[in-house]
Amino acid sequence: AIVLEGVNKWFGALHVLRDVNLSVATGERVVVCGPSGSGKSTLIRCINRLETHQEGKILVDGIELSDDLRSLDAIRREVGMVFQSFNLFPHLTILENCTLAPIWVRRMPKKEAEELAMEYLTRVRIPEQAKKYPGQLSGGQQQRVAIARALCMKPKIMLFDEPTSALDPEMIKEVLDTMVMLASTGMTMICVTHEMGFARQVADRVVFMDRGEIVESGEPESLFSDPKTDRLKLFLSQIL
Ligand code: ATP
Ligand code: MG
Repeated sequence: AIVLEGVNKWFGALHVLRDVNLSVATGERVVVCGPSGSGKSTLIRCINRLETHQEGKILVDGIELSDDLRSLDAIRREVGMVFQSFNLFPHLTILENCTLAPIWVRRMPKKEAEELAMEYLTRVRIPEQAKKYPGQLSGGQQQRVAIARALCMKPKIMLFDEPTSALDPEMIKEVLDTMVMLASTGMTMICVTHEMGFARQVADRVVFMDRGEIVESGEPESLFSDPKTDRLKLFLSQIL
C-alpha cells in the first residue's frame, strides 16, 4: 500500500505539490490525470524517491521515505517504474537489459535471471526479441521490454508515467494491453495517463490533479460523466 499525507513539494519558489493526500491499497489501480505541469510526474517520482518532498509523509508498504539509505534501498526494490521514454540501455541486448538489475542488485545467479527475464518477455509477448538491441525494436516493443525489465525485479508496486504518450497510435494498444494484463495479476499500480479507455477498463479510481493539488477523485465512470469542478470539466472537454 502507498500512503501520502499532507505532502508538499517546491522546486525553488514553485509550489508543485500542495497538501497531497492519497492512499492506494494493495492491489488497487489508480490513474492520475491532469493538465501539463500539474505535478503528476513529480507526484509519482516522489513515491519512489526520484524526487524528495519537503513536507508531509510518504509511506510505501509501511516504510516511511526518508534520507535513510536502507529505506531507499527497500523502496527501489519494491517499486518498479516505467517512463515515457523507455530508458533502455542501448548497448545491451533486450535480455541483458532485463537481467542487469536482478544480477547486480538482487544478486540473482545469471542463469536464473535469464530464465526469469524470458518468462516476463514471454508475458509481454516479445520473447523472440531477446537477443536484439533496443534500437532494433519498435517503440511499442521497447516499452514492453521496459515493463518486463521492471517486472524482473519482482516489484510489489508499479508506477507508470505516460507510458504510451511517446508512441505512434498503432503501438499504443499493444502497450495498454500489456498494462491490462498486469492489472489482471493484481499488481498495485499508479498510472499517469490520459488514455481514458484504459482508465475505464482497469482503474479502481481516477485522480485529477491541477496546479499541484488533487482536485477530484473517484471511480472512472462517475468522475468522467459527472465532474464536480469547472477545472475537471474543462480538462475533460479538452481530452475526450
Ligand atoms: P506533463 O503532463 O507535462 O508531464 P506534469 O503534470 O507531469 O506535466 P510535472 O513534471 O510534475 O508536471 O511538473 C510540475 C511543475 O514542476 C511544472 O511547473 C514543472 O515545470 C516543474 N518542474 C518539474 N521538474 C522540475 C525540476 N526538476 N526543476 C524545476 N521545476 C520542475
Ligand atoms: Mg509528466
